[in-house]
Amino acid sequence: MKRYAGVIIDQAHPSIDKIYHYSIPEDIANKIDIGFRVLVPFGPYNNRVEGYVVQFDDTTEVPIDKIKPIYKLIDTSPVLLSKHIPMIDWMVDNYHCMKIEAIRCFVPPGVRSNVGRKYKKIVCLKTKDNIDERIANIKKRSTYMAAILEYLKDIEQADMEKIASVTSAPPSSFKNLEKRGWISIEEKEVYRETWPVNTSDNIEVPSLTDEQQHAVTKILDKLNRQEATTFLLHGITGSGKTEVYLRIVAETLNKGKQAIVLVPEISLTPQTVKRFKNRFGDKVAILHSRLSEGERYDEWRKIRNGEAKIVVGARSAIFAPFSNLGVIIIDEAHEDSYKSDLRPKYHALEIAEKRCQLEGATLVLGSATPSLEQYNRALNGEFELIELNHRVEGGSLPHVEIVDMRYELLRGNRSMLSASLYNGLKSVLDRGEQAMLLLNRRGYANFISCRECGWVAQCKRCAVSLTYHADKKRLKCHYCGDQYPYPKRCPKCNSRFIKKFGVGTQRLETELSKYFPHANIIRMDMDTTSKKNAHQNILSSFGKGEYDILLGTQMIAKGLDFPNVTLVGVVAADASLNLPEYRSPERTFQLITQVAGRAGRGSKIGKVIVQTYTPDHYAIKYAAKHDYRAFYNYEIGVRRRFDYPPFVHIIKILSTGVNEDALINTVEDLERWLKKKISENLLLKKGLIHIGAYPAPISKIKDRYRWQILIKIENEESFLYAYHGLIDTMLKCYNISDENISIDFNPTSLL
Ligand code: ADP
Ligand code: ZN
Ligand code: ZN
Repeated sequence: MKRYAGVIIDQAHPSIDKIYHYSIPEDIANKIDIGFRVLVPFGPYNNRVEGYVVQFDDTTEVPIDKIKPIYKLIDTSPVLLSKHIPMIDWMVDNYHCMKIEAIRCFVPPGVRSNVGRKYKKIVCLKTKDNIDERIANIKKRSTYMAAILEYLKDIEQADMEKIASVTSAPPSSFKNLEKRGWISIEEKEVYRETWPVNTSDNIEVPSLTDEQQHAVTKILDKLNRQEATTFLLHGITGSGKTEVYLRIVAETLNKGKQAIVLVPEISLTPQTVKRFKNRFGDKVAILHSRLSEGERYDEWRKIRNGEAKIVVGARSAIFAPFSNLGVIIIDEAHEDSYKSDLRPKYHALEIAEKRCQLEGATLVLGSATPSLEQYNRALNGEFELIELNHRVEGGSLPHVEIVDMRYELLRGNRSMLSASLYNGLKSVLDRGEQAMLLLNRRGYANFISCRECGWVAQCKRCAVSLTYHADKKRLKCHYCGDQYPYPKRCPKCNSRFIKKFGVGTQRLETELSKYFPHANIIRMDMDTTSKKNAHQNILSSFGKGEYDILLGTQMIAKGLDFPNVTLVGVVAADASLNLPEYRSPERTFQLITQVAGRAGRGSKIGKVIVQTYTPDHYAIKYAAKHDYRAFYNYEIGVRRRFDYPPFVHIIKILSTGVNEDALINTVEDLERWLKKKISENLLLKKGLIHIGAYPAPISKIKDRYRWQILIKIENEESFLYAYHGLIDTMLKCYNISDENISIDFNPTSLL
């Protein structure tokens, strides 16, 4: 019997983030279920607040006279699925978040803000009897009324707005016809449009290559047996991974199940979305954060009521409310954007793994450049590894030329374009083909490098490059906190030509138009893509050949398939190499491999030119050879030597405060406390590699100072204890408010 409903109040505050018991009035007793939103009295003044029913109990510790009744159910059906309650508990445990924060992940904002449904007026022709005669008669009185009937004559019903725009008929004409009983006007709910309707493209289904077929067979075998298996589909760029996804999804639907497909960012991968829309039409819902509340709400309801069987979306689509999930596919699975940087700091891959486990679904991680951790898990047998080593239709990977920018400088070329890249662009333009240029600007101005020998200032203890701090004119390591003076001369070659880097896409565009005044150049970066659909517009006009050169930041690196692109240039490969992060080489390798994969996808042979001051760096060399395995082998050695993931876990405790001294005191206090607790516990002591408190690399954001404690722990057991036992105790003991602390496990960035 449902005696008491356990309700989580929809207010994000730690002190009330627990289950409250309410009694269930008779009039809703046979309707109420887990997942319903309810209106309940709360607090001493019985304020009316919203909450979620998460369980039912027969007994309660609350004195019977204190139990209040639920006022009412808010919706006609539950917004949460009961099978997702364990997922919510798991998130609370693993992300140290509040229950309500986890719940809100499953509920689109439009539900909570009651954004409402959209209606349209639909006009129906009531009878076709003598229609031509009637039209002729009415035409003498009103041409508008005649036009409306004419419009409806064959199709019988249509959207009133559409008819009005074609015929220019005013509302009164419609009303008149309705009065005469010739037409009826009905309000009908419509979904807001989230994707331009366009299914005219190639919808032919190609027959699979042997490699693709092998992959599909292996995955479907597990899918049919409902064993929660994770596959790592490692396929080179252009090997046809998307076609593999499409087949798996088709089969999932045949089995009466549903599929979630994640892409890093919808606006950057319009072609992938389009291929799903083309193949599956209205069965595809699209979910991402750029949609309006109303649009998201509509897509969510299509999923909830079973009209949509597939979701293609960004990170947050992992919470799609499917009740019979068959498969989750995560494309470009190495991407950092799958990890949320807002609370709860979930990682979509972790949620996916857990969901698949709980719901007996199959997980497919696809990438041309899996993360070190992912490939490591595959080699350890935790994931099943499937490799696609060939491009479809025997196309070959483009030749990559590494250009040593130090020689360019010696030869007196101070522009951003090497002679090679200039000549390459020139001949592409002469042949009427297209080129893409990548300039990775992120964190650009921060590193120091010798323009003559390519030396980059690095920390002696941590194998990461140092960051220049303009305020103190010193170089700092963000892992161990060591500081170094700004070098007057290069310690390697004694040159005085030491530079801070600072160039951007805008300057590149200016240079290009100077060298190639007749070329049509389009730029894609943060500045040019702030408007809605800007990404799609830029990419589609480039795809149509309206431009010769597309230049941009890492936005242009992913998933694009333009057959006429025969040249790809990486303008400054070092930019991402010298961020103060242990993942820099990995990110650089991924970026070069990905962007190189954009060249030569059609029948013409492609070429890639990589400009760098450090041509001997292993990340650049192996990317140029398209050799993932060699890169992996090298990099995994570095990780082991310097104690980085996957060999250790990192726990980052970031504290912020407006008063710097007070913040430092708190953080140092916390550090002492943690050190003491660790020294008292054998398990923690055994696993601890390092603990230290440092100012965060970005030392102040919005007037709040930032410090962080980094803990490195090896050994899974020690880590789990630290992450749950230790950190939970810390949060309780210190009573720290949420706004001044955040805890992150294996953060994608230490900035
Ligand atoms: P990836 O995602 O691995 O980079 P895609 O799935 O984008 O590769 O495939 C590259 C190109 O090859 C696309 O244009 C796609 O339509 C085409 N393609 C994929 N599989 C086949 C196939 N079996 N036969 C013919 N063309 C294919
Ligand atoms: Zn030097
Ligand atoms: Zn260091």
